[in-house]
Amino acid sequence: MLVGYSSSSGSSGSDEESEAGALTDNSKRRHDVDHGGSSVSKKLKAEEPTSETRLPVPRCLLDMFPEEGDPQTDGSSLHGGRLRSFKHERGNWATCVYFPYHPHEEFSELLEELLEAVAARDVVLTPQTEFHLSLSQTVVLRHHWIQPFTQSLRPRLVHCRRFVCSAGTLRVYCNAEKTRTFLGMEVSTGQAQLLEVVKAVDQTMAEFRLETFYKEPSFHVSLAWCVGDFTKQLKDSLQELQSLADDHEDGPFLLRVDCRELRCKAGNKTFGLPLGP
Ligand code: AMP
Repeated sequence: MLVGYSSSSGSSGSDEESEAGALTDNSKRRHDVDHGGSSVSKKLKAEEPTSETRLPVPRCLLDMFPEEGDPQTDGSSLHGGRLRSFKHERGNWATCVYFPYHPHEEFSELLEELLEAVAARDVVLTPQTEFHLSLSQTVVLRHHWIQPFTQSLRPRLVHCRRFVCSAGTLRVYCNAEKTRTFLGMEVSTGQAQLLEVVKAVDQTMAEFRLETFYKEPSFHVSLAWCVGDFTKQLKDSLQELQSLADDHEDGPFLLRVDCRELRCKAGNKTFGLPLGP
């Protein structure tokens, strides 16, 4: 009976049931996809124990599997004060698809200048630790869906040819929940090719019943971010910031992204997904 609790971690045949108790809407639907219909979901539901049959989980067992709300696993101090955009559940992996951008010296110098200029206007931005160009929204995958997900994506990308895209226009972005603001550089060349790649990624997203990319994508590389909605303050500084990027000794700064291998990051695992030749 213990496997019926969302706080329990079942094994072998019990795994399906214990996970079903903690499924998100997405993953509920993904169960249907994998097993070829809704009958499995219904069956799982029918087999869930009722509240009358449930026994309390012993404290010592609960302590072995700290859940959301436990400061050790969900403290926002662990992720730089950022707020989670979705509920954390064990076995759910935040997943996104992107091209990495490897900064060079000129970029790092410009970024420093930009952050100083923003700080003078009382907005403190934190530089990204890794730079990327997103080709998907962040979605939630169950652990056992990660491999099928990358396997679905891989052959679709072979039809997309390698290319280089460039970005040079500063733009302000905010996440859907308005809890984080980003200063990014928007892509100016290579959109058509990026749209082709998004089309391939979206096909896999649709196959797994996950959210597809923005209907009106603004491809960009985020440079820095802060907690809260500082869209207005940053937009007010954009002209000054853009002139820092444009008035460079060697002409306007242009960030170049070599789009030859996509990355799929699921939790702490990263997979390389090469484009065609
Ligand atoms: P990223 O640097 O890819 O993590 O994106 C930073 C933020 O930009 C994300 O939270 C996105 O939700 C947000 N964003 C807002 N509007 C758009 C858009 N049209 N295209 C891409 N990203 C967007």
